[in-house]
Amino acid sequence: SQVYLNGAFMAPQEAHISPMDRGFLFADGIYEVIPAYNGVLFRFDEHLIRLERSLAEIAIHNPHSREEWRHLCETLIERNGGGNLSVYLQISRGATEKRDHAFPNPPVAPTVFMMTGAIAIPAADSPDTASGSKAITLDDIRWARCDIKSISLLPNSLLRQQAVEAGASEAILLRDGFVTEGSASNVFVVIADTIITPPKSHAILGGITRDLVVELCRSHHIPIEEREIPENQLRQADEIWVTSSTKEIVPIIQLNNAPVGDGKPGQVWKKVARHYVNFKRRLCGQ
Ligand code: PLP
Repeated sequence: SQVYLNGAFMAPQEAHISPMDRGFLFADGIYEVIPAYNGVLFRFDEHLIRLERSLAEIAIHNPHSREEWRHLCETLIERNGGGNLSVYLQISRGATEKRDHAFPNPPVAPTVFMMTGAIAIPAADSPDTASGSKAITLDDIRWARCDIKSISLLPNSLLRQQAVEAGASEAILLRDGFVTEGSASNVFVVIADTIITPPKSHAILGGITRDLVVELCRSHHIPIEEREIPENQLRQADEIWVTSSTKEIVPIIQLNNAPVGDGKPGQVWKKVARHYVNFKRRLCGQ
């Protein structure tokens, strides 16, 4: 396999960065994960708009135009054999001479790293045979700017680990009694045939998959609301889903060891999963 680092493609074991990189010292950087199906980037512009926003929010200079980013992503996909891959893209503020919390002045060149990962076949690809996943609820212990796709993921990592140790695959987070999102996903519930997802704010990452699900529901006249979800509504929901770029839409069939609805992937999930997969195939083939 090949990765990209600061202007060159290379084997992963050839890629070296300084321990004085602010990504290493302060987790001072941002990232994106962009899926490609059949080697075709999916929702590329939406991911790049979010990348540009994350960089601007933490004042890192964007080293590339959108077309340059596209070319780098496509070259990396090609060099890794194409097919279904995710592109991981990270930009840190760069390597400094001394460890200082304040930004280096004058600024240094940002560090750019990219690699690909395999994408497992998502549940949404086969709605009729999907088995669903388990989740637990945990307190959202993260910072107040979860809308920035920061590489500072220690709380997310600790929360996900707690879920895994409880035999679940995701932690659904609660702040002041309301659902925010998952440790690496957005959350949807279905109550009386209406789909509900929390509104975008500084408390959640504006998921590209989340936005597409909302868009698809609206265009197919499936009732969907963006509003806060109190904990008791989460517990009583007929369906719960979590969404992310590499896992698409995953039905949660158990919450805190209690069945969600009848304990199987729900009918509304099946309908929306089909729309999602049709949309993906129209854009990327397969
Ligand atoms: N929320 C968090 C905290 C995430 O880390 C992610 C993605 O990994 C998401 C939501 C889902 O975002 P997207 O659909 O853009 O992958």
